Amino acid sequence: MPVTKIYDVLIIGAGPAGCACAYQLANSGLNIAIVEQASFPRDKICGDALSADVINQFYRMNDALASSFLKLRPKYASNGIRFYAPNNTKLDIPFKKTSQKQAAGYVMKRLDFDSFFASEIKKLPNIDFFENKKVINITPHKNYVEVLSNNARFKTQIIIGADGANSIVNRKLSNNTINKKHHSAGLRQYYENVAEVSSNDLIELHFYKEILPGYFWIFPLPNNAANVGIGMLSSEISKQNINLKEKFTELITSHPNLKDRFKNAVAKEGIKGFGLPLGSRKKQLSGDRFLLLGDAANLIDPFTGEGIGNAIRSGRIAAEHVKNVFKTNKFDAQFNAQYDKKIYQAMWKELSVSKSLQNLLKYPWLFNFIVKKANKNKSIQLLLTSMLDDVDLKKELTKPSFYVRLLFN
Ligand SMILES: Cc1cc2nc3c(=O)[nH]c(=O)nc-3n(C[C@H](O)[C@H](O)[C@H](O)COP(=O)(O)OP(=O)(O)OC[C@H]3O[C@@H](n4cnc5c(N)ncnc54)[C@H](O)[C@@H]3O)c2cc1C
Repeated sequence: MPVTKIYDVLIIGAGPAGCACAYQLANSGLNIAIVEQASFPRDKICGDALSADVINQFYRMNDALASSFLKLRPKYASNGIRFYAPNNTKLDIPFKKTSQKQAAGYVMKRLDFDSFFASEIKKLPNIDFFENKKVINITPHKNYVEVLSNNARFKTQIIIGADGANSIVNRKLSNNTINKKHHSAGLRQYYENVAEVSSNDLIELHFYKEILPGYFWIFPLPNNAANVGIGMLSSEISKQNINLKEKFTELITSHPNLKDRFKNAVAKEGIKGFGLPLGSRKKQLSGDRFLLLGDAANLIDPFTGEGIGNAIRSGRIAAEHVKNVFKTNKFDAQFNAQYDKKIYQAMWKELSVSKSLQNLLKYPWLFNFIVKKANKNKSIQLLLTSMLDDVDLKKELTKPSFYVRLLFN
């Protein structure tokens, strides 16, 4: 197969990480290709929750991009979280609102979200956007990297692995295997007509004993639809020998908080699953002539399961690093290690606090205790609202002294 063209930068994967990296490199003067196995619009199994951080990341890239996203329909505005504790009690925590013009977060099908981002990239100069090209092999050479897809062959000076949880760049060049203690399995099923969903603007997280550390979710979508799913740590699934699909169905049909709500609900698809590589351990993110981004770099928040914001953030950081690579003409592992450093400088504090929160789920009574206290005390609710987007405050939740103070009000 002849080489299509020799690129400066070849990005594999046109999800949020790949698109963000391409967007930030568009005016760099470099020759860029983005190679995607699917063609848009394409689905991605996800909860579809877009946190405030995702909108912030758009603003960090370009105000016009953020406003185009905010104008997009259909999406559901979410202004808080309804937590269900292991003892089945609930607690509503509103998000902090930073603007009257926009919601704090949104729920939008990835089919629509990713197509929007991909269509923005297709408008840009200097970027060749290839769809329906599944990368099947990668061969590193001293002065370039060769990339083979099912129907094309490319050469590039540097390769960007933005190809998600099962990244071929990770498998071929970084040699990192799945560690079940740092990996979750997730299931999603779209529904219509789940009772009590459209009556509020809250996303729902249900932390029930039998699925800890993990949760069941109901995220409202427009037109009386909802993204319903479950995520659980893979090591616990193995340890407890859980069949996650059966557990999901069992919750919907027999859990006291859920069974009546799903009585007249209509499933719009079969149950679909995908892996979540969690950012609860550091890993190698780069090497000679390659960088890993987003899920390929294991940057998903271990407590919330959110990864879109960090995927975009890693795309932005990678683009800045790539510009330095070409400025200094250094493509080696030693130089690229600066990228790893920048990623963890930006994200490790939050990821490690989330890891500690995930560990706390081993003590379900703590969760019950917070919900009970917060339901009685408005100032505790306000504190929890602030904790949602302040990592230093969130860290308090991991300290025994916080619970002692709660106990004595
Ligand atoms: C069940 C579940 C629920 C989740 N819920 C949420 C949520 O509500 N909110 C949130 O923020 N995050 C959520 N996440 C995490 C989120 O989906 C990811 O973190 C995010 O999609 C990462 O973006 P990415 O660009 O790194 O990878 P992806 O979005 O996976 O994009 C990778 C792209 O690479 C392409 N690709 C893969 N292999 C190849 C190949 N060999 N050749 C060419 N192209 C290839 C794929 O087709 C895809 O387009 C969830 C994940 C799961 C599994």
